[in-house]
Amino acid sequence: MRDAAPQTEVGRHSPGKPTMPYRRLTLAVLATAAAATLAAQKLDSSNSPQRPAARFAQIGPLSLSAAATGKGDTDKSTRPAVVYKDVLIPGVPHLRQKPDFCGEACAAMYLQKLGRPVDQDYVFDSSGLDPMAARGCHTKELAAALKKIGFKIGPVWHKVPAADHAKHIQTQWKALHADLLAGVPSIVCMHYDHKPGTTEHFRLVLGYRAKSDEIIYHEPAEADGARRRMKKATFLKLWPLKYNSKQWTLIRLRLEPDRLEQGTAARTFTAADYAQHLMKLKGKVPSRGFTIVIQPPFVVIGDESPAMVRRRAQGTVKWAVDKLKQAYFPKDPTRILDIWLFKDPTSYRKHCKSIFNHNPTTPYGYFSHTEGALIMDIHTGGGTLVHEIVHPFMAANFPECPAWLNEGLGSLYEQSAQRDGQIVGLTNWRLNGGFQRFKEGEELGLKLAIRQGRVPSFKSLCSTTDYEFYQKDNGTNYAQARYLCYYLQEHGLLRKFYHAFHANRKKDPTGYNTLRAVLGRKSAVLGREDAVLGRKDMDQFKKDWEQWVLKLRF
Ligand SMILES: [Zn+2]
Repeated sequence: MRDAAPQTEVGRHSPGKPTMPYRRLTLAVLATAAAATLAAQKLDSSNSPQRPAARFAQIGPLSLSAAATGKGDTDKSTRPAVVYKDVLIPGVPHLRQKPDFCGEACAAMYLQKLGRPVDQDYVFDSSGLDPMAARGCHTKELAAALKKIGFKIGPVWHKVPAADHAKHIQTQWKALHADLLAGVPSIVCMHYDHKPGTTEHFRLVLGYRAKSDEIIYHEPAEADGARRRMKKATFLKLWPLKYNSKQWTLIRLRLEPDRLEQGTAARTFTAADYAQHLMKLKGKVPSRGFTIVIQPPFVVIGDESPAMVRRRAQGTVKWAVDKLKQAYFPKDPTRILDIWLFKDPTSYRKHCKSIFNHNPTTPYGYFSHTEGALIMDIHTGGGTLVHEIVHPFMAANFPECPAWLNEGLGSLYEQSAQRDGQIVGLTNWRLNGGFQRFKEGEELGLKLAIRQGRVPSFKSLCSTTDYEFYQKDNGTNYAQARYLCYYLQEHGLLRKFYHAFHANRKKDPTGYNTLRAVLGRKSAVLGREDAVLGRKDMDQFKKDWEQWVLKLRF
């Protein structure tokens, strides 16, 4: 439904998936009694099987009002003879609409013809429609967008008394045709086809062909929809929207440029992207008990209380995103990702299965590349969430980043806080071992590995491949990488190291040489701290680092 009349919200067009592909049929149609011309007619095949030819013949004379033959209308009892001239607005590119963006696409086509480097998202964004609505523009919003962009759209809604509709519809068609002759196309809101319960759909009307009495229009719903033709009679039947049985409505938006904005296609995610994303997402979200919050560049979905989901979105997601961007990442992830926050282990297990068909191997949460989603049991705390947020940003900003740094940074921030306005990692369980194994006074985890001499050299850590890091881990990879990052952070070197590594990534893909250089330079400039950093080589550094780690507390 395109017009904003809530009681008729049923039957919205879902243009991404037309219910039936257009097939073209050729029907022999008796044109007018006088002319007795046979006209070839292209019809939507979905209409024709149910519709008797006789019914079509009835509208034949109405449509082929003499204009077709140029001989004048002989059916003088119904209407005066009007000859509509051939007209076509040339050179309008055709765009395939995104789901539910038929009006946006129509407007973008003509804006491109006018030399504006814009797209359908730009039109949606100009409408001010809240992307949480998870739909494209209805008439009211499309009208607002077109006015804002700078078109003189004219009166949009035309009331047609049902009792005398033919005359009124002709008047509106005449006005539309006159605009075409003046070089002004129109977007109309009309029924998609003749089927009962058909949806409403915006189309861009660009011309008229007298000989065949056909409207020429761009069909946004289909890839090959340029310069489609439709019998004027069919068009005039599909155009009126019958919300009220006594008074019908015709909708037309003129595209006469007034003071057009320059406009550009956005390079980052805009409201249009979120609207599209939410249209797809809504099919996945269980109908009850979930709250959805747009928190750029993510969408957060959770089944805690709505207030709590919003608090997580603001307090954890937004905070982490802002701080991580400030410290490391100028670019957003290349797609909108979902963050699913399930309220407890039962919900987590149940929904992983029912929504994604996953049986998670971790109780905390994980990232699914296929689903484009971070999936969490949020009851275990926000740590895993911040850890997982690091990864899509790393992928967008430093795709070559080796696993040791990607996981080192991710796990650094799984226990994080704010210090002097910046995000910092704190000591955590990886020092002493996992939650399950941890007992008071027992040294597991990294400390135990250090005491047992099981921690590899930094050269070896840096040169592990991603496969080795994840699959051949002897239990120390994450912790060693995390506490190297923590060490760098506590010595004011972490950001410097990250940016130096990123800049130097072609020459030094493992980061090892950069690490050495950063540690070395620091030792050269600092006085007292040289006692910590000023060692001869990386072997000495490792010994010092191990002693430093053993003194840490969690
Ligand atoms: Zn990770």
